[in-house]
Order: sequence, then C-alpha cells, then structure tokens
Amino acid sequence: MGSPLVSPARIASLKGRTPTIATLCSHSSLQIFHGARLEGFPTLGIAGGAAPRFYDAFPLARPDRFLTVPRIKDLPTVVDQLRDAGVILIPHGSFVEYLGAEEFGKLDVPVFGNRAVLAWEADRRKSREWLESAGATMPKRFEDASEVDGPVIVKYYGAKGGKGFFLAKNREALEDFRPTGPYVIQEYVLGTRYYMHFFYSPISDRGYRVGTGSLELLGMDRRDEANIDELYKLGAQEELLRAGIRPTFVVTGNVPVILRESLLPKAFEIAAKIVERSIELFGGMWGPFCIEGIMTEELEFKVFEISTRIVAGTNLFISGSPYSDFIEPQLSTGRRIAQEIHRATAAGRLAEVLS
Ligand code: AMP
Repeated sequence: MGSPLVSPARIASLKGRTPTIATLCSHSSLQIFHGARLEGFPTLGIAGGAAPRFYDAFPLARPDRFLTVPRIKDLPTVVDQLRDAGVILIPHGSFVEYLGAEEFGKLDVPVFGNRAVLAWEADRRKSREWLESAGATMPKRFEDASEVDGPVIVKYYGAKGGKGFFLAKNREALEDFRPTGPYVIQEYVLGTRYYMHFFYSPISDRGYRVGTGSLELLGMDRRDEANIDELYKLGAQEELLRAGIRPTFVVTGNVPVILRESLLPKAFEIAAKIVERSIELFGGMWGPFCIEGIMTEELEFKVFEISTRIVAGTNLFISGSPYSDFIEPQLSTGRRIAQEIHRATAAGRLAEVLS
C-alpha cells in the first residue's frame, strides 16, 4: 500500500459522505461531468461570471449545480463553500492556466492527482530533467545558435499555443531570428506527432504493473494546429517569411489516431519509466497524463512535452477508444477518473489518490 501524500485535515471535508466531483466549466468539463454522472457522483460546475448556457444543450454532461465567482482568479475566496459541498476538484489544462499553477497548488480543497507535479510540468527545464532522467529521448537542445546543425524550432518560455515560435531550416536561416524574450532553441524533429493518453492508478492490482499499481492507455490523438497545419499550401517558408507570415501552433481541435501496434511496447516502456521517476522525484503522478512526442522515420519516439492531467484530446473518446475498449466498453478518461475515486473509496484508500 502506498503512503498518502494528503493530510487528514485537507480531506476532512469528505468524511462519511459521497464526494461531489467539481471542475472549471471549460476544456474537458463535459466529459468529466458525464463520467462522474455515469459513476453515480453529484457534480458541480465552477464558472467565472454567469453559468455557461451551452450545458443546456448537453443534458447528460450538465453539472447538477453551478458555483459562480466574478472571475476564476476569485476562486480562493470560495474555498469554504467548496469544502462545505464536499468537493473533489478535477484539474484540467484551462483550470490550472486560468487560476495560475501556484494559486491552484495552494487551494485548500481535495484535488484528484498529485498537485506537486505542477511545479515540474510548468518549468521547461524541470520537466526536461524529469523526462530525461527517466530515460526518455527529447529533442536536442542547443545552448547557442552556433551549435545548430539542422532544422530547429525556437520556443519562447511559457509561450501559450506556440505563438511566436520560430522555425529555421538550418543555422543560416536562424540568423533572421530576432528574439523578443527568453527562448530555447530545440531540434525540429521530423516525423509524425502522437499525443498518448495514459492513466496511472497507484491502487490497481491488475493490468500492466508499474510502481504500486498499473498503467493504462486510454486513447491517442493528434492536435490540429493553426496555422502550421495548412501553411504549406501557401508555398515555401522563406517566401512566407518575406511576406511577414509566421508559423503558429495554436491548438484548434483534435483528431483521433492510433499507433502501429508494434510500437505500443515502446510507448508503454517510456510511460512506465516516467511514472517510476515521478515517484522518486516528487511522490508520484497518478490519474491521467499525456505524453506528447514525434515518431521519427527511424521509429524513435522523441518526447517534446508532458501534460500531467486530463488533456482535451480525450474529448474524442467519450464512448471509448480503440485502446480503452480493450479495458472496458464506454470508458472515457473522465469516467476513469470517477471510477478511480470510487475504487479508492471502496478500498479505504481515497487519501492515496488525492492531494
Ligand atoms: P509545445 O508548446 O512544446 O507543446 O509545442 C507546440 C507544438 O509545436 C507541438 O504540438 C508541435 O506541433 C510543435 N513542436 C514542438 N516541439 C517540436 C519539436 N521539437 N519538433 C517539431 N515540432 C515541435
């Protein structure tokens, strides 16, 4: 049995009652509420301003109740209400981004997953330290432009949606780069992108064993990114740059993909090592996470990022995916989160999946 990271005081609000599953009304909230409802949990939608109307169009995914605050940043002022409601918060990308990783980490409300992971994910250097020390291959990083020996992507720190990224085919092309803030120069990996949706349960005693529990693959997607995905239709990059058109990587949607079956062992090995290393570094990463990378023509998978919570690409698989169907029919990631809370409660181990 693992050792709980969460203090008894933090989860005292859940004692002797069925928890309410709550999240911010955005990102993957429809899936989270739908999954919670299927598993018999009450649900609460948190919204900035008015309760959003669009849930009325999706009755099976509408939260039972809403809690509104003037702005998301005001959430810390209603922590008592959240505790009184017996809430477990489910983090997702927009939730953490709108509130800020630091503020989210400080909320005195039970959170599903390990909030300590936020600091490792948010900082590009720390996440590289984690992933590389887990044995994952990452795109090469160049400390200086003079070292560049092939195509590169220049990323600004914390650039949201890849805005302002600069692509250069070689060292000469990089000379046109005029930085406007701190940046990193990274090898541009040629290949095909895969965003793999994993789920690690520290309390499961079956399946693909890792750490104290098991690792599941629930789905896979590729992001649609504007304008890069369609930019080639306008001609060569050099001409576009001369016309003042720059590539951007703003996520606008997601498409389902699967990996060649012979590559699945590799995917599981990488994910397992990342989980094992998380246990050593900061007590573990459990629940959903996404490994984002590029498979090269040599069939080497280079990881460029990790998301340590439910990603929006899982929204494709409300009724299951070509992977989750081999675990259980109709298993979305949102539903799997609710199941984990259920199973942990039944085993008297809820404290092990919260923080
Ligand atoms: P990121 O902000 O790191 O998630 O990157 C945004 C997008 O840029 C990714 O979804 C990829 O399409 C692309 N990208 C990031 N890093 C690389 C890389 N090293 N090589 C090729 N494409 C990349």
